[in-house]
Order: sequence, then structure tokens, then C-alpha cells
Amino acid sequence: MPKGSKRGNGRRRGLPSGSQAIVCSACLMGVPCRYDGRSRPESRLLAVAARRVCVPVCPEQLGGLPTPRDAAERRGRRVVTASGRDLTAAFDKGARAALNAARLAGARVAVLKRGSPSCGSGWIYDGTFTGRRKRGDGVTAALFKAAGLRVLTEEDL
Ligand code: SF4
Repeated sequence: MPKGSKRGNGRRRGLPSGSQAIVCSACLMGVPCRYDGRSRPESRLLAVAARRVCVPVCPEQLGGLPTPRDAAERRGRRVVTASGRDLTAAFDKGARAALNAARLAGARVAVLKRGSPSCGSGWIYDGTFTGRRKRGDGVTAALFKAAGLRVLTEEDL
């Protein structure tokens, strides 16, 4: 599918041309910031980072959560761990910090990790910790979209 074209769901794929900075999930750039202490480097994003500024952000770390940390999922407006610990405030704080970083960099586009309760865009896990998915966005992806940023996942590159 050519760059900039639309998927069946109407979502545009591909980064816009130009040299404008983009903001990216830090785990996709090789930073070991995931809940399990690992990273998920994405070779297509690393290739992009070789030719334009990519600002890595990890909203969950920016919200003050440790690494490694308990897995969390969105349950309605809240974000909770499997044991029921409410992490909503940390997720909200991290989303605001990530948006601030995007604005400081002048980024209008973000490439965020799919499925994450922070970074996921289009689908996330359903809050039951059973691996089931639902339509929706992570906290940061939702805030970015509300602020007018275009949000892509690593699969859209
Ligand atoms: Fe990656 Fe986003 Fe999760 Fe941080 S919050 S580990 S950047 S998916």
C-alpha cells in the first residue's frame, strides 16, 4: 500500500514527508521502558530516526511509574493493575508530560506502540487481563488525538 494511502478502516498510513520532528514511544526506539523491563525496537522506526528527529517518550515512566512495573489495562476511564491498583493519576500525568514534550519539539505526528494502555491507538486490551481486545485508545494516544496530533502505530509505517 503506498505511503499516505488509507486502510480499509479509513486510517491513513505512512509518515507525512518533511523534516518536522515526530514523537515516538520510547520502547519502539529500543529503550527498555516496558512494564516487563524490555524494549520492542521497531526497525522501520529506527530507519526513520536516522533521517529525522524522533523524540522518544514513555508516558508511564513520565508519570512516575517504575520499570519494571505491574501490567495495567484501561477499565472505562480508569487504568488498573490485575490486582485492582488504580494507576489512573500516573497515566494521566504521563500523558500530559508526553504531550508537553511533543509540543516543545513541534511534533504534529506521533508513532505509538499498539495495544498499550498508554500508547495504543485503535484497540487496547479490555481491562479483564485475559488478552481480549476492544476498540479504543490508550490514555496518551487519546490525549494526543484530542490535541490534534495524528497518531500512527508501528504497523502504519
Ligand atoms: Fe512503550 Fe508507551 Fe508502554 Fe512506555 S508507555 S513502555 S513508550 S508503550
